Amino acid sequence: MPFVLTSKMEKRFNRRVLAMLERSLSRFPELQERTITVGLTRKNLGSAVLMRKASEIKLTIRLNVRKLSYQTIGHEFMHLSQGLARERIALRRGRATKIPSGEKQCDVWTLARSQLFCDDPPTYLRLPKEARDNWSRYARLIRSLCIAAIIRRETNRFYIRWLETEIRRLVNRRPASGGEGIQLSLPLDTGI
Ligand SMILES: [Zn+2]
Repeated sequence: MPFVLTSKMEKRFNRRVLAMLERSLSRFPELQERTITVGLTRKNLGSAVLMRKASEIKLTIRLNVRKLSYQTIGHEFMHLSQGLARERIALRRGRATKIPSGEKQCDVWTLARSQLFCDDPPTYLRLPKEARDNWSRYARLIRSLCIAAIIRRETNRFYIRWLETEIRRLVNRRPASGGEGIQLSLPLDTGI
């Protein structure tokens, strides 16, 4: 198992949590072959820490087992990827990944990474109440917008502002009474 459990987590750990962790990790090739310490938190949904110990980098996430979603696991794994990308830049070794640091950035990259992480709305990205309350109706389209925003970032440093505006527009255009809704002409999964 690529996971080491803290003693508090060991008491709460079960097959469901392990299955969710393993499924999530399969979407993070950059974290594979690393050991991730998994601890417990009750205060928030989760947290992630990178610690440098001599030449080693220790990766830790903490999860709230009672409210566990793929979105949270993906978000915390993405923080580890952000940290590793920073380390790689600092060490000038290897090819730096393009994941910028920041909470909203973490949300955007997590949603874009896989549909798996769209089971719950993200925490930091600004969403209209309608989208937050009816997340499952909007998840797929908002994920497409996140992918488009990542592509846009190459030429537009205000890509998150662009994304939040597009999400607001999407919600305004979409009829509240259901139906197929509007179509977006966006590049689909580009392997990000
Ligand atoms: Zn975070």
